[in-house]
Amino acid sequence: MKKQTGFTLVELVIAIAILGILAGLAIPQFMEARNEAAKKECLANRTQILRMFHAQRAVGYNGELAPFLVEVTDENSENKYFTFQPKCADNGKYSVADEYVVCSIEGHNEDIVGFSTIPEDLLKKFNDMIDSFYKDGVLDVDVLNKLLGITNAGDWLLTKNDQLRDAFYKTNGGWVEGTGIDGQKIYFKFLKTADGIFIYANQRKEFLNSSESGSDWNAQYIYDAATQKWFYNSKGQGFYGSENKTEQDLVGEKNAGWTEVTLSGNTFSK
Ligand SMILES: [Zn+2]
Repeated sequence: MKKQTGFTLVELVIAIAILGILAGLAIPQFMEARNEAAKKECLANRTQILRMFHAQRAVGYNGELAPFLVEVTDENSENKYFTFQPKCADNGKYSVADEYVVCSIEGHNEDIVGFSTIPEDLLKKFNDMIDSFYKDGVLDVDVLNKLLGITNAGDWLLTKNDQLRDAFYKTNGGWVEGTGIDGQKIYFKFLKTADGIFIYANQRKEFLNSSESGSDWNAQYIYDAATQKWFYNSKGQGFYGSENKTEQDLVGEKNAGWTEVTLSGNTFSK
């Protein structure tokens, strides 16, 4: 009898069937990964357009977002703002809705990121101040002591929010001013958290430390850095003693009664 060397037809059919099943399992996953990548690229490009728009506004561009969008997405016009063509990877069309750039492919708008975040000058002030207290990653006690006029450093816990906030208040001539949703003056503040800075605002002009009543630690406007959204609550919520929590802990702890608001410049609106 001749020794069989290759595959029989049945074996081949089975092998091909198995490969087919494996491909059937893998292809939807490839497609999903591909769609997810396209969606991310689309979102990144729309975010770039918004950032560029606001950067241009900051240096004197007077136009609105809609014509700006037309200008940067028109493939025939010379694009003077980008070195690449910011467009949807799936050929969706971009348009302006509210103050966002949206894509005509619906699924692409799920994670839309707004530009109503933190006034950049405000964030820079906070970061510069915090940085100025550190030398090679270590809190520089001498700098802080001098700033705060402390002679007996042993009395102070210099990593505490009270001292950092007090120092900011003194070095920056008070809190950064803004306008609330009803036109009243509000002031931007921060807490140093376990993972960064938590930004909020309220109507308290003065620096009050925790021992005083009606504390300025009560937040009426809070900023969720993860979603880049601001929330308002007329009653507010106290966040005193929260330095060991993360920014997301604090946002997660907000009670009922918070509504989303928009910050444009230093002015809030509903
Ligand atoms: Zn898209």
